[in-house]
Amino acid sequence: MDEVRRELERCTRCGKCRAVCPTFLVTRRETDVARGRIALFESILRGEAAATDRAGEILMGCYRCARCMDVCPSGVRVDMIVQAARELLARRRGLGPAARLVFRGILPRRRLYDRMIALARVAQAVLPSRSAQPVRHLPLIYGGRRSVPRLARRPALRTLPEIIKGKGEIKISLFLGCMLNYVYPEIAASIMRVLDMHGVDIILPKTQVCCGTPVLASGDAAAARALARRNAAALEADKVDAVVFGCASCALTVARDYPRLLDRPGALPDKVFDITEFIDRFLGYSNLPIDETVTYHDPCHLRWGRGVTGPPREVLRRSSDYVEMERAGDCCGLGGSFSLTHYDVSCALGEAKVESIRSSGAAVVATACPGCILQLQDQLARAGLGVPVVHAVQVYEMSYLRGRAGHEYVPFDSRARSGRSSRF
Ligand code: SF4
Ligand code: SF4
Repeated sequence: MDEVRRELERCTRCGKCRAVCPTFLVTRRETDVARGRIALFESILRGEAAATDRAGEILMGCYRCARCMDVCPSGVRVDMIVQAARELLARRRGLGPAARLVFRGILPRRRLYDRMIALARVAQAVLPSRSAQPVRHLPLIYGGRRSVPRLARRPALRTLPEIIKGKGEIKISLFLGCMLNYVYPEIAASIMRVLDMHGVDIILPKTQVCCGTPVLASGDAAAARALARRNAAALEADKVDAVVFGCASCALTVARDYPRLLDRPGALPDKVFDITEFIDRFLGYSNLPIDETVTYHDPCHLRWGRGVTGPPREVLRRSSDYVEMERAGDCCGLGGSFSLTHYDVSCALGEAKVESIRSSGAAVVATACPGCILQLQDQLARAGLGVPVVHAVQVYEMSYLRGRAGHEYVPFDSRARSGRSSRF
């Protein structure tokens, strides 16, 4: 807490964060920007404000996107302050029974989690699809308003192999996270194929669990710590050179939050690589660019959270006819649980992003986070803009295969219509 108090004291109330904070730019309320959230937390600590539902809503409203930290002249660790505030609120107000059940009862138990997702998939199947794109409402989550993809028939952790022997030169552990496991297993398979094609020794630990991002966001540090310990044991069971991620949010949580949760700086956070960082750093470019115009959206957690902007662009430049969209670093509006309760704010941010995509003229939009893919698919479907949304690794895979004799190039929109395919 001493460290947090020092961070609080560093805020000079200059208000520079107001120019970039995505929630403030939509609502224009002082409570929806770093300065206002910091002031509220200080008032709670001084006993001048109570830990009410409204205080919880304000502090939960932060995306922890780290955008404000990029412009803050005092270098205030807003992400640390907001996290501490949420944990304090969770301690004082307690967690709801549903959150306790999910965070402590379901997320650490892979088989039970699989069964719950299978039930959700059945429920999802009976609801009508809202658009021509392959997106469907998910009951309970998102209140039936947001369109989300059909949940996978079989989670990626059940279908992909646990070990792939490579050339013995570089060995990695692959962390999938919930979204790649249950919603986009085709992206997980694409990552594995790319690594395999380059002869990387791959371990996909089947005992990995949720990274803890939604748990931390709710302030349940004890449950997040339990998940971090399980993941550390799974990912460090073998001596590996890198831990590769296809989800920017999972990667940020492991790199930023695991040292505190595990109570040791450790080697694990130092080994975190986004798949595009890994391709750019270790795999090289023996590919043949595809004949499609591709643009890129920066996931906040990759760009502002970890400062990774070059590798995904370089991967796409080497793999396609790349065009940069305007304001690529602006938040797409998903923002985790905030968009569950504030879908209007989420849509306002999403609409601006759709305009950037439209004006780029790109035929395909790529990104590096499954959460952003989900949000962009929903927002593009709302706007009636039929631009496929893919992960950057999928573009790289297609270009890599295109450079190999005998491969028949299949455009993205045809692939979307023909469904999922996996060699594993
Ligand atoms: S930019 Fe930094 S110092 Fe200025 S108000 Fe925001 S958090 Fe405080
Ligand atoms: S982390 Fe993001 S949402 Fe939170 S205050 Fe900073 S800019 Fe705003």
